[in-house]
Amino acid sequence: MSVFSHPEFDNHEQVVFVQDANSGLNAIIAVHNTQLGPALGGCRMWPYQSDQAALTDVLRLSKGMSYKSAVAGLPLGGGKCVILGDPRQAKSPELFHALGRAIEGLSGAYITAEDSGTCVADMITIGQCTQYAAGVVAEREYGGDPSPSTAYGVFVGLQASVNYQFKCPDLTGLTVAVQGVGNVGLHLCHYLKAAGAQLIVSDIFADNVDIAVKKYGAKAVSPDDIYAVEADVFAPCAMGGILNQHTLSQIKAKVIAGAANNQLANVETQQLLRANNVLYAPDYVVNAGGIIDIAYQRNGRDEAAIKAHIASIGATLTDIYQRAEHSDLSTQAVADQIAQERLSNNLHCEN
Ligand code: NAD
Repeated sequence: MSVFSHPEFDNHEQVVFVQDANSGLNAIIAVHNTQLGPALGGCRMWPYQSDQAALTDVLRLSKGMSYKSAVAGLPLGGGKCVILGDPRQAKSPELFHALGRAIEGLSGAYITAEDSGTCVADMITIGQCTQYAAGVVAEREYGGDPSPSTAYGVFVGLQASVNYQFKCPDLTGLTVAVQGVGNVGLHLCHYLKAAGAQLIVSDIFADNVDIAVKKYGAKAVSPDDIYAVEADVFAPCAMGGILNQHTLSQIKAKVIAGAANNQLANVETQQLLRANNVLYAPDYVVNAGGIIDIAYQRNGRDEAAIKAHIASIGATLTDIYQRAEHSDLSTQAVADQIAQERLSNNLHCEN
């Protein structure tokens, strides 16, 4: 398995392979960049088809975290962890303790938190073996699972995107197709429903779909059919890599704004979105609500300040859209440029 020559390597500071035979833990921790602060990023648990797929995922995700925190103006770097395993079957206290010990061994270079497949209880278990686990205060709206904050940020960003594309901020009567109704997707449905939107949802787990149908009056479609539905907005809230030539040929929505990380399958997709007049909210900008929440938790929280910072995602996106419209760059490329400038400016200051 190539690491240094991996196409997604991008000068990662550390890539740590963690194995614990007793608990069956196989994990990879990637620390992309700590110029702006310690690398904070979630721990994903997923039954990857291969070690290579897990490595590719963690490298892309950790770089995304560096860019996310930089654009959100947070004093944090970017990192991520993936556990190779099925979150519905392979969890155990021993497995999370082994991971906690490995994270502790990095002496604070990496701080973990919840991501797809892990929850507050898992962070609490990891936190029994390391001081570098965030998102562990389950009983507070701000302090545990960052998903509600991520969903709030996606909602605010989606509204700003609708306003930019359709010249109207009102979601009443608009149809939003939500792909994946897990932790973030369901909270997003709550905000969208309250704002008057119609919902179409898909998920690979029927119980999640049932909640969206019963609680928010959503129409359910199969995972394969969600792309082609008649919708104004498409909100990817499942896994990455889902925007490609094939799916874009089906998507009718003129706004794409959702929580999933690394939505674009490749660089060509950026141009295709632009050519199709689809306004794309760069994923790591629109889904920064959770990391903002966790950053404030670590520095003593002020709930009004957290909400205001998350709400600023709307203005950040509007600025990105304006810059993209007045250049030949895609919205993703503009966001990347802002992140890279902030990362290199800090490097310059420290030198
Ligand atoms: P989750 O695991 O709780 O929810 C994801 C949902 O997507 C699950 O219900 C899963 O069954 C479903 N899904 C998987 N493949 C699917 C498919 N092909 N079609 C339809 N549904 C499918 O995860 P989450 O915490 O809600 O996160 C969702 C996405 O947002 C992930 O990509 C995650 O990395 C990203 N994200 C999450 C947060 C957060 O705070 N949780 C923050 C930033 C980004």
